[in-house]
Amino acid sequence: MTEITDHLAQIRGCVASQLEQAGRAREDAMIVAVSKGKPADAIREARAAGQVHFGESYIQELQTKAQALADLEIVWHFIGRIQSNKTRSIARHAAWVHTLDREKIAARLDRDCADRAPLNVLIQVNQAGESQKGGVTPDEAPELALKVAELPNLRLRGLMCIPPAKISATGRGEYFAQLRQLQARLVSQGLNLDTLSMGMSGDFETALAQGSNCVRVGTAIFGARPR
Ligand SMILES: *Cc1c(COP(=O)(O)O)cnc(C)c1O
Repeated sequence: MTEITDHLAQIRGCVASQLEQAGRAREDAMIVAVSKGKPADAIREARAAGQVHFGESYIQELQTKAQALADLEIVWHFIGRIQSNKTRSIARHAAWVHTLDREKIAARLDRDCADRAPLNVLIQVNQAGESQKGGVTPDEAPELALKVAELPNLRLRGLMCIPPAKISATGRGEYFAQLRQLQARLVSQGLNLDTLSMGMSGDFETALAQGSNCVRVGTAIFGARPR
């Protein structure tokens, strides 16, 4: 068994037992393997171990890998900051975007997805107002969500967050719970949302306990990234 295969099995086990503890079905959460900074061969290895969803943060890297791995059935998730001149490339390769935070980007993605299956999108919420991160404030989320929901070539699926790096598990749990409540509020306003993207290598168990059904795990699968 290779290291990546082994790590994947461990993560799947942890996710399943966390879901079980929460009284949820074992297959209730999607695992997105975050492969940024890792070579195409590492993705091939994970794919051979049954992993289908992969996440990339940089558009050039997504493009290069999607082309190099075109022979594989992979569902690509774009999880990085979106520049408005890169929407075409995202539309070409990604099935999901986790980081939508501007109406202008939404409009461009919608335009660029006219000739393909609808793009699944999540609105990124920046709960702590961290300037180095993207995302709307929790107060801004409803307005953007209602606008995105109107766009024919985007399918608004839910919300995503990345809590501040240096806080306790309890603190992170509070951010995750807040995002779950925001999602519930949007659902009560009539939006059909089914995906909460919360949790990374260090906190995916906390996130699952707070209702996440999509975890984005990089380091714990592929090992540390070069700085
Ligand atoms: C890099 C990244 C991850 C994965 O982080 P790990 O700590 O390596 O699991 C998840 N989500 C986003 C948005 C990222 O940029």
